[in-house]
Amino acid sequence: MSRPLRKPNNPMPKEWTAQKYSQNYIADYKAFNFVDGEGVRCSLYVSGCMFLCPGCYNVAAQNFHFGQPYTQELEDQIIEDLSQDYVQGLTLLGGEPFLNTDVCLKLCRRIRKEFGHSKDIWSWTGYTWDELQQETYDKMRLLSLIDILVDGRFLEEEKDLTLQFRGSANQRIIDVPKSLAADKVVIWDKLVR
Ligand code: SF4
Repeated sequence: MSRPLRKPNNPMPKEWTAQKYSQNYIADYKAFNFVDGEGVRCSLYVSGCMFLCPGCYNVAAQNFHFGQPYTQELEDQIIEDLSQDYVQGLTLLGGEPFLNTDVCLKLCRRIRKEFGHSKDIWSWTGYTWDELQQETYDKMRLLSLIDILVDGRFLEEEKDLTLQFRGSANQRIIDVPKSLAADKVVIWDKLVR
């Protein structure tokens, strides 16, 4: 008899908070890549995630102490990289961006201040859209600064490597401003598959 698949963790609303878990650590920063969303992007990988999805693409970054502290120097570098004309925007990944809201809010607010909406912001999260609507204020503030959200845990039983920008079929590519305005999930209109 085969063993049942282990599932990711499922938090209660507001159970996990950045205040409780985040160490403001960064697992990696990759400037000028083509894989973490549309166009040329700068990607910030924050450290720490509580979902612990089996088959996670970045197990090391589940640890909140993995990597290096976020610094003003790194933030200045990201802003300088984003200022290149050919860069479309920033991508937040992890780890869990919504459990590292101090770092992500500070950076996203500066991007909006310096670039307005001429640069877009994408974020991945293990939370579903519906879960985020019941979450803490800092998470909702971060959501309000994001253009595109890829939501939901990675589920091995729904793994599909042919999907655009996501690893399992339960995950969605969500247009955040349109979804907030409509008060329901609106899928990215450039979705191919
Ligand atoms: S939510 Fe993402 S980063 Fe967190 S364990 Fe799952 S796949 Fe890994």
